[in-house]
Amino acid sequence: MPLQIVHHPDYDAGFAVNHRFPMSKYPLLMQALHVRGLIQAEALSMPEPAPASWLKFAHSADYVDQVITCSVPEKIEREIGFPVGPRVSLRAQLAAGGTVLAARLALVNGIACNTAGGSHHARRAQGAGFCTFNDVAVASLVLRAEGAAENILIVDLDVHQGDGTADILKDEPRAFTFSMHGERNYPVRKIASDLDVALSDGTGDAAYLVRLGAILPELSAKAGWDIVFYNAGVDVHAEDRLGRLSLSDDGLRARDATVIGHFRALGIPVCGVIGGGYSTDVAVLAARHAILFEVAATFA
Ligand SMILES: [Zn+2]
Repeated sequence: MPLQIVHHPDYDAGFAVNHRFPMSKYPLLMQALHVRGLIQAEALSMPEPAPASWLKFAHSADYVDQVITCSVPEKIEREIGFPVGPRVSLRAQLAAGGTVLAARLALVNGIACNTAGGSHHARRAQGAGFCTFNDVAVASLVLRAEGAAENILIVDLDVHQGDGTADILKDEPRAFTFSMHGERNYPVRKIASDLDVALSDGTGDAAYLVRLGAILPELSAKAGWDIVFYNAGVDVHAEDRLGRLSLSDDGLRARDATVIGHFRALGIPVCGVIGGGYSTDVAVLAARHAILFEVAATFA
């Protein structure tokens, strides 16, 4: 079966090429997936923008309205890292809609991936750290509200701590947040997940994979999970501009195979989102993000 992939051309909000946030990675990732033969028309879906009612499950009504009407206060825009104009607003609504769609496809097909998402620094009351809406938290709460999933596990392996997801889901006992990240990375003030593992600078492939392999059985034993959201941020890579964990391409591939293989062996659906990745060579960065899809396709 081909891998179910969710994508929208407007995930790319068209920033200048020298912007700190490498926006062009979205079209380049699609190109990389085409080259690898991973895009099949019958398994490619385009999301609708998430309606305000979904976004308000995870975010305060005021903040959702500010983003939709492009009237986010400047102080919050500074914390996000870019102004929230019409294209950024649309891309945030589409990315959240995309993760909801990918989650629904994962429930039916066992695995599906969004070519965006993993905006884990967006908290209930505001965005931060290049994240406008927290797509995984939105999708978790939509699935819960619809009764499509009871118990939800979030495995966040982006190099940065999943503070926004922890904030939004802290009072949701049926959603368990796990973040394994670089101790010295953003955010400075972390918000405790249900389980956090902080790694020291320079943790390489071997130590990283040992740590991960030890934790996964612990996570899967905690409840009968109906779905796992997997944030496969590639900023753990040695050549990432913001990461400090020194993983190689092979390490990334082994990480993704370890996570997806563990949960698929247990019959638990997996919804993959791409998370962070920062490089001035955006083509190389897109190839790094493509690893998630290459691995996921072997489980489809
Ligand atoms: Zn990150």
